[in-house]
Amino acid sequence: MQASDVIVIGSGIGGLVTATQLAVKGAKVMMLERYLIPGGSAGYFERQGYRFDVGASMIFGFGHKGTTNLLTRALQAVNVSLEVVPDSVQIHYHLPNGLNLKVDRVYEKFLQNLTGYFPNQSQEIRRFYDECWKVFHCLNSIDLLSLEEPRYLMRVFFQHPLKCLGLVKYLPQNAGDVARRYIQDPQLLKFIDMECYCWSVVPADMTPMINAGMVFSDRHYGGVNYPKGGVGQIAQKLVEGLIKAGGEIQYQARVTKIIIENRRAVGVQLASGQVYRAKRIVSNATRWDTFGKLMSQQEIPSAEINWQQRYHKSPSFLSLHIGVKAEVLPKGTECHHIILEDWEKMTESEGTLFVSIPTLLDPDLAPAGHHIIHAFTPHWIDEWRGLCARMYEVKKEEAAWRIIERLEKIFPGLNAGLDYLEVGTPLTHRRFLGRQDGTYGPIPRRKLRGLLGMPFNRTPIPGLYCVGDSTFPGQGLNAVAFSGFACAHRIAVDLGM
Ligand SMILES: Cc1cc2nc3c(=O)[nH]c(=O)nc-3n(C[C@H](O)[C@H](O)[C@H](O)COP(=O)(O)OP(=O)(O)OC[C@H]3O[C@@H](n4cnc5c(N)ncnc54)[C@H](O)[C@@H]3O)c2cc1C
Repeated sequence: MQASDVIVIGSGIGGLVTATQLAVKGAKVMMLERYLIPGGSAGYFERQGYRFDVGASMIFGFGHKGTTNLLTRALQAVNVSLEVVPDSVQIHYHLPNGLNLKVDRVYEKFLQNLTGYFPNQSQEIRRFYDECWKVFHCLNSIDLLSLEEPRYLMRVFFQHPLKCLGLVKYLPQNAGDVARRYIQDPQLLKFIDMECYCWSVVPADMTPMINAGMVFSDRHYGGVNYPKGGVGQIAQKLVEGLIKAGGEIQYQARVTKIIIENRRAVGVQLASGQVYRAKRIVSNATRWDTFGKLMSQQEIPSAEINWQQRYHKSPSFLSLHIGVKAEVLPKGTECHHIILEDWEKMTESEGTLFVSIPTLLDPDLAPAGHHIIHAFTPHWIDEWRGLCARMYEVKKEEAAWRIIERLEKIFPGLNAGLDYLEVGTPLTHRRFLGRQDGTYGPIPRRKLRGLLGMPFNRTPIPGLYCVGDSTFPGQGLNAVAFSGFACAHRIAVDLGM
């Protein structure tokens, strides 16, 4: 038995930001990671000279100004840095009815491109996106810490009363409601749906305005930037910083139980049987894993059961990690693409196809003369359960060729130029990311009031905190970094640091 101030279960970006923030404040921190490397959904793997991102590739939070550049800040806090490559276009959309649009890093250029498709809606478009900027300016002027800490809330309110009131106004709103205040054109509203869906995996009506304001503005402010060496570098650097700050991390250390004594979380038990105790326990696993697997049924708080009635698991993904000959990509190809042929299928399994080609920003991730294409599309785990090994392989192959056929329309010659192909299913995501059903994260079961229903870091079990994408403000690396700053802040106050 060993005692720490804080144990963090899992080294996703949310867990790592919590751990590094607490370590620099002087806490004795122990991270326990079930896998071989840190990063979770922001991890990587290497095959035949390619370094593939397992998930995230479109990275926000690396800006230099304001307060929302949380990845820059998290790295700086532990005296490490990362070179990033700016992306001049956030997304190239390939949508139904010939809507073929690039979201330029320059705001005015983006508005101009969009207005080109909807010339009668130019004022409406500007009004909607300008309103998103209002949310962003409120967020970007205050220190983003724990909303569960009353003294911080009071300080921020007295420093920036109007910005705080602005945020309170937007907190219960969804992007779809705000969009419809300005926009009537059904095609344009569908485009706004896709603008939300491609990171929130729900349409605009169910996407909180706070998150939409953040994404729709920061892409033109701090911008989208790709870490040199691949997304996995973010976690590697944070671990380096954690160790420099006196923290510890153990890999292949799967927590199987959160030890609760007298209704308080006091430690964890690993699959090896090893027990660690700490004053505070943080879980970076999803809520379904934390409350469904790491404690007994009787210990699950009723608030958690209520939360699960409001939110459910989003689907997982079918992922193709592809290596191709460089000549397959036409000149001027952008890094990130969204492909949809039929609006009715946007939220369906295999409807929206997400594509990232990180080697356009960092060629060193692939052998010379080659590129990486990561294509992924939502898939439910149920379709993959109970198959024998042969049927599983057949199903994977069939699905992969359906995706390659769709990609061929944009990258003709892809099939002929294939050099490497690895297919991941929801089962792969579950296994390697340690996420129940391989889910991308929580999504509302029905339309809710903005972000008001998302839980913060404290849980009803004293001593136990959650961090990551099943806490406020949700999915995405910059969002989970926010959750990490907030979690560390709340714990530091609770520990009197
Ligand atoms: C295919 C895909 C594409 C994405 N694209 C983007 C994108 O372009 N941009 C973006 O910003 N976001 C993107 N995301 C979302 C983003 O990656 C996630 O929201 C974010 O990384 C989640 O971070 P987290 O801290 O919540 O935890 P996770 O990344 O889920 O990490 C949790 C960690 O905890 C460990 N763990 C779990 N249980 C245990 C246990 N019992 N014991 C020990 N360790 C445990 C896991 O192994 C893992 O390392 C994408 C996600 C996916 C899957």
